[in-house]
Amino acid sequence: MEEPMAFSSLRGSDRCPADDSLKKYEQSVKLSGIKRDIEELYEAVPQLVSVFKIKDKIGEGTFSSVYLATAQLQEGHEEKIALKHLIPTSHPVRIAAELQCLTVAGGQDNVMGVKYCFRKNDHVVIAMPYLEHESFLDILNSLSFQEVREYMYNLFVALKRIHQFGIVHRDVKPSNFLYNRRLKKYALVDFGLAQGTRDTKIELLKFVQSEAQQEDCSRNKYHGVVGHKGLLSRPAPKTMDQQCTPKTSVKRSYENTQVHIKQGKDGKLIKQSKTVDIISRKLATKKTAISTKAMNSVMRETARSCTAVLTCDCYRSDRVCSVCLSRQQQVAPRAGTPGFRAPEVLTKCPDQTTAIDMWSAGVIFLSLLSGRYPFYKASDDLTALAQIMTIRGSRETIQAAKAFGKSILCSKEVPAQDLRALCERLRGLDSTTPRSAIGPPGNTSHDPAASENPDHKTSRVQAAQAQYSEDSLYERDSDGYRSHPRDCTSNSEGWDSVPDEAYDLLDKLLDLNPASRITAEAALLHPFFKDMCS
Ligand code: ADP
Ligand code: MG
Ligand code: ZN
Repeated sequence: MEEPMAFSSLRGSDRCPADDSLKKYEQSVKLSGIKRDIEELYEAVPQLVSVFKIKDKIGEGTFSSVYLATAQLQEGHEEKIALKHLIPTSHPVRIAAELQCLTVAGGQDNVMGVKYCFRKNDHVVIAMPYLEHESFLDILNSLSFQEVREYMYNLFVALKRIHQFGIVHRDVKPSNFLYNRRLKKYALVDFGLAQGTRDTKIELLKFVQSEAQQEDCSRNKYHGVVGHKGLLSRPAPKTMDQQCTPKTSVKRSYENTQVHIKQGKDGKLIKQSKTVDIISRKLATKKTAISTKAMNSVMRETARSCTAVLTCDCYRSDRVCSVCLSRQQQVAPRAGTPGFRAPEVLTKCPDQTTAIDMWSAGVIFLSLLSGRYPFYKASDDLTALAQIMTIRGSRETIQAAKAFGKSILCSKEVPAQDLRALCERLRGLDSTTPRSAIGPPGNTSHDPAASENPDHKTSRVQAAQAQYSEDSLYERDSDGYRSHPRDCTSNSEGWDSVPDEAYDLLDKLLDLNPASRITAEAALLHPFFKDMCS
């Protein structure tokens, strides 16, 4: 939430009474909002009333709201429960698949499990054991090196578990890996974007895969046609509670959405690329606004199949030619958070495996070693790709992309960085220089091109490359330099002698080529974790 006034954070001590009452007012507005949400949830799913006391809202995303509740157990003591209320427009198969991941793979090895599930009409609530957890940003710079080792180890334990079941999580990031520092407890949550590998053991994931390929970057864009009608009337998995019947024949709002889906050559459903029209229109009108400078940095990824048949050289100009416009948009699952997406996801490689979760784990590790979060701050995929290039090298990225069938054009060559030097530089700056002395975030955390020209790839890439100076790439953190000073006394321990194994593992996680990227199982056996008990 925004600070009420720009200066209030800088002079918290001599804040005027008006600020305080404004804060109190905002607090009360928020509280009454939460109260209203809780009442609405009780109304939507009345079964909850007799079982839970809902205390607070602890998470609100685009696709769900999560509440803290208590349940009265027979023996008399209360148990804390997390209630995840999925937005009613979520696809029923999607919901059922999320639940199946939790029920089949969850409940052990640092993977969150399920206690109950409730449904009324199109409202589904998943009840899970509550794990109190830290905010990653709050603790990032106070973690000891040993804690970082434990954190990563436990993340790989969870990933090994789900990958064994053929689950690709697709949204591995700190807010989906709950960490209770005091209890040393960990839990991977949120299978809302999960997909199955070819041989997945999660039945329902076999069906979300093909659908996910119609969707663009949002998991909520289920348009029109829903295949596998038979599936919708399948019984819920055995393990689920009686009350759970997310099979639904409920009428849903997306049924009214009119988007054309057409059958691709290979039998896959393909969303017709409306976006291309929009882009071309924008390009035409904005043509004069695009500087020739922007043209120096053009990157375009094209499917190998396209380039083999049709060639053009419109990447040299500021227009998209008719050959390119007539190309079918390549469909590939593209969900997740840009800063954590693997290169094969960013380039829409249709063959995506569990390796994409390992990349995301690598990005988390990079944050832990450098003390910067989020490390990559990109609002879109091409910016994210350009940022990856500035760390891993442009030639290396292009080379790797070739291996998975993508060609990337990039006019500016950037060298790969040494990971140890990079992390030490960022971390060193962190601990020895007071954050206030580094200077305000200013325009560095903001990518003007990205927000002004959201549809214009060229300018975005150029912007990302032009500002590839370190400061702009890795957020110090979104709310500034002031709030999370490094606790030097308790945690310098270990940081002065980070072993090479750490950077070797990081290098293997951030392997640009998914085929050679380290697996969770292999990561657990990496020398970095030697003498860690499992
Ligand atoms: P979304 O799909 O909206 O991201 P998540 O499943 O990731 O939903 O949950 C959102 C947030 O709610 C999490 O980041 C976490 O803070 C909190 N949360 C989710 N599950 C639990 C749980 N079992 N215990 C404690 N907190 C949880
Ligand atoms: Mg989440
Ligand atoms: Zn072209």
